[in-house]
Parts: sequence; C-alpha cells; structure tokens
Amino acid sequence: MDSRYTNIIKNAYDFAQSQKCKGEIASYIPELANIDPNKFGVHMTKLDGRNFGMGDHLEKFSIQSIAKVLSLTLAYKFVGEKIWERIDVEPSGTKFDSLLLLETYEGIPRNPFVNSGAIVICDILITHLNDAKKEFLEFVRDVSDLPKLTYSDKIADSEKATGYRNVAVCNFIKSFGNIKNEPNVVLDFYFDMCSLEMTCQQLSQTFTFLANGGKKITDGKQIITSSQSKRINALMLTCGFYDESGEFAFRVGLPGKSGVGGGIVALYPNNFAIVVWSPKLNKNGNSARGMLLLEEVTTHSELSIF
Ligand code: GLN
Repeated sequence: MDSRYTNIIKNAYDFAQSQKCKGEIASYIPELANIDPNKFGVHMTKLDGRNFGMGDHLEKFSIQSIAKVLSLTLAYKFVGEKIWERIDVEPSGTKFDSLLLLETYEGIPRNPFVNSGAIVICDILITHLNDAKKEFLEFVRDVSDLPKLTYSDKIADSEKATGYRNVAVCNFIKSFGNIKNEPNVVLDFYFDMCSLEMTCQQLSQTFTFLANGGKKITDGKQIITSSQSKRINALMLTCGFYDESGEFAFRVGLPGKSGVGGGIVALYPNNFAIVVWSPKLNKNGNSARGMLLLEEVTTHSELSIF
C-alpha cells in the first residue's frame, strides 16, 4: 500500500526537479540570501502516521510566514470568534507586505496571513501572554511533539535590522487604534515568530492537526475546535498565497500556506499534510518549484478537495 504514496511523491519530485523554474531567493532579509537555491525537499505525513519524504526533507529551513498559521491558531484559542472584529477574512489581492488596503479599511487587515494581519495577531498574543516569544514556542513544541524546536536569532536579527515595511505597517495600524501594545514590542515578536526553523518532516508533522479537525494525531489532544480548524483551512485556501491564492487553488486544489524561506505546507483534510521546500520564489513570493511539485501530486493522485 505504501508504494502508492512513494510513487506519487517520487514522480512529482522528479518531474518538478527536471523543470526549469524561474525565481529568486528572498534577499530583502539578508540572512535568507545565504541559502543554496537548489535545495529541494518534500515530506508527506499521513494521518495514520505513515511518512514519505525525499530530497532535502530532513534539513532545517526558515518557515517564515507559515508560522502565521500557528500564531493564528493560538490567538484564536484565546479570543474565539471576536478575533474577526480586528482582522477580516477576505483575500487581499495584494502582496504580503502591502500597506494599500489598510487606509481603505481603516487599519483592519484583510486577513490573518498578510503581514498586517499577522502583526495584529502578534499584538493579540502579547496582550494574552506574559512572555509571547517563549510561550508561543512552547505552544508550537506541544502541537508538534518536538521539544527542541527553536527560533533562529540570526534570521530574526537580520529582519529586525531591515524590516522597514513591517515597521511602517505596524505603525500605520497603530494610528487606527488596532495595535494595543507598543509597535517595537509587537514587531520584535513578529520577527521572532517568522524565524522559526523546521525541516519538511517536522513541519508536515506539526500541521497534521489542521488536517485532522484540530486534533493531534499522536495523542488525540484537541488543539482547537473542529469548526475553528475548518475556518483556518478555509483561510489557507482563500488567502494562503496572497495574490496567488486563486492560482494555487486552481492548480493544486488544497488549503496551503507559503513562506519566503521557500516552504509550502498543504493539507488534504482527513488524509495528509505535505510540505515542500525550494527557496527560489516567483514574483508573488511563493516557491516556484514547490507549487509545481504540489500541482503534480494532486493532478496525478487526484487527491485534492475539488
Ligand atoms: N518575515 C517575512 C516578512 O515579514 C514573512 C513574509 C513571508 O514569508 N511571506 O516579510
């Protein structure tokens, strides 16, 4: 039985590897530019615990915006549905770091996955936690059953030194009253959160709870309600790839989330989580080869939600 998934992954990996993929490594965070652009790994975790991985799937990378799904999960646990009073649930149709719609919508970010939305989520976590940096990491370690996960201070420091757009985003939202804490404290935590490092294998293991109605596959612990899990999946499908969310749904047909470190996580509810990592990004900031691999996986396996 296992050979089916092994073949699906292997064929998709070999195909995506053989294709020329245009794209650039994210260099606006200087430390991210040091990565080998040819890294390529994939890992699938089935909800029954089986694992299928290839290439550089056991090498750590910077998960960047993929962490926004985990910070949303924790904030959603604290605030419940009231969270949507401060952040909307609509696709933005703009780049991840855009300021454009904040003026129009008076400081209410379009969704929790654009930077503005994730920064408001960080503000919520700072309000609810004594030490957001420490307690968020503890939460992720618990969800993943990986007690050794860490942030990368190198990457966080690199972004703290150059993240002028995020500074602008946070201060702009503050001017509308939708940031309650000091912007420098909120930004500090936002940059730390984005600097989490994981392998493809660790990340796919971590995300299985969102393919499993909010429940961990290892010990059955309910992290969030199944209704909240459904809503996070819906947001991943409609907003997980910024201005390319339609394209991802069209080509891959799964809820997913990308990060500028070149990682993508995608979920097939009640079946599996899959993570691919390839650092070269297309113009929308999403991994070019990663999208291609996932398109192959769902097209040839017919394992998509549509
Ligand atoms: N830390 C990055 C930023 O704020 C995250 C962006 C991303 O991964 N899309 O720019």
